[in-house]
Amino acid sequence: MKKIVSDFEELQPHDHLCLLYREHEEWKAAITSFLQTGLVENDKCLYISGAYTAQDVKKYLKEVGIDVEKKVNSKQLVFLDKEDSYAQKQEFVPQEMIDFLKQAATQASEEGYNSLRVTGEISWALDYVQGEEKIIEYELGLNEELFSNYSISALCRYHLDKFDPGLIKNVIKTHPYIVVNNKIHENPYYISPDKFSSEPEEVEQWLENINDFTKLKGRFKNTIQKSREKLEIKNKELEQLLYIISHDLRSPLVNIQGFSKEISNSFTEVKKILAEKDSAQDELLGFYLEEDIPESLSYILKSTNKIDSLLEGLLNLSRSTRNKLQPKKLDINQIVDEIISNFEYKIQEEEVEIKVGDLPVCYGDKEQINRVFSNLLENAIKYLDNDKAAKIKVTGYSEEERVVYSVEDNGIGIAKKDQEKIFTIFSRLDYKDNVQGEGLGLTIIKKIIDLHQGQIWLESELGVGSKFFFALPSETNDRID
Ligand code: ADP
Repeated sequence: MKKIVSDFEELQPHDHLCLLYREHEEWKAAITSFLQTGLVENDKCLYISGAYTAQDVKKYLKEVGIDVEKKVNSKQLVFLDKEDSYAQKQEFVPQEMIDFLKQAATQASEEGYNSLRVTGEISWALDYVQGEEKIIEYELGLNEELFSNYSISALCRYHLDKFDPGLIKNVIKTHPYIVVNNKIHENPYYISPDKFSSEPEEVEQWLENINDFTKLKGRFKNTIQKSREKLEIKNKELEQLLYIISHDLRSPLVNIQGFSKEISNSFTEVKKILAEKDSAQDELLGFYLEEDIPESLSYILKSTNKIDSLLEGLLNLSRSTRNKLQPKKLDINQIVDEIISNFEYKIQEEEVEIKVGDLPVCYGDKEQINRVFSNLLENAIKYLDNDKAAKIKVTGYSEEERVVYSVEDNGIGIAKKDQEKIFTIFSRLDYKDNVQGEGLGLTIIKKIIDLHQGQIWLESELGVGSKFFFALPSETNDRID
């Protein structure tokens, strides 16, 4: 799913917005963001057709990765025509529409939704008697009766060329937030319903608004601030990655340079000996040819192999985080059973007693989640304590909105001071000799869990063992990208 970086992420129940637009693209961006963020936030979303049809909206929501069929089937996303809502009697009765929305908001909360989000367009009301007055009467009624008392947010859509500027002025005065160019603006021209139509009171309220604006407003600036913070974190990660790559790839390279120089010196010696060859120097020649040169060559080979595996690891890391996730419901018991049977040889060799609890299902990308369990189990086996009977336990439980799994071992454990750094790329602890690895497994796991909007953490004590936990959404999470 495409990441949402829009002001609509900041919307809350009770917000009353209006979209003033001319271009189709402006309409599309606002409607898509309004509904997309609502569906992600577990709001019930109601789209009342206007200039554009339900088909248009469905298409745009699909483009940003919403499973539209699923949302429509579950009735989280509902499409209505104006006849179903505003204009049941071929006339526009504002109070009826307000009552309809009250009922819809109550129903949404009874169905367990966070709030109701509704968006509608009422240019058609102009065709009825006193259309303009009724539109403003409706907007005032919404502010007076609906937003403060019901868990609802609304985006009213107004095409600027379809309404008289006088009406647009009143529309601006009746909406605390205005969407222009896909940006939500706090509206200094907003007038609360009790002050509307009284010029002196309107002026008083504007003065208050102006004062408040400099003092405390700026709610929708959060999105920019948040994007900036995310960018800073990404930059830091990138800097760290560059440092580690340049540092860790340099050390095998320095070896290659050093041993190549040594070979070159050895050859100079060999050539000298061959030039003035006498049998007394055969022993020295034998040393260069049998020991010195092969030894240097083997170090060179080791270093190039090391660079090769580091680069392969980097490639794996970039692959694991670049491919698009395909989240679905996963039978974790089955996944873990398969992984364990792949490790059977190691498990028997190390005489590991392995216990697996009843593991809850979760939503995730099968290949990636398989990788997480594989890496954690592999580490649990790799870092066992050779002086103890080995025990590994895999357990899991469900919480309200997430499932938590753990892989526990009674191995060598990890000191507190090192627990954070093991998730950093190429970082390895030297507690146990002769264990193969590149220090990439946990980095990849962390990236995968981050992409699933989950969390990973551990409890560990040196010499006692480690327990790695990770949490994943228990339901499809539309924010997964
Ligand atoms: P690798 O195992 O390839 O070195 P990882 O990223 O998987 O890389 O792990 C990083 C480091 O964390 C390991 O080198 C090891 O020192 C430590 N570690 C990981 N898992 C465990 C564990 N279960 N018990 C003890 N130490 C562990």
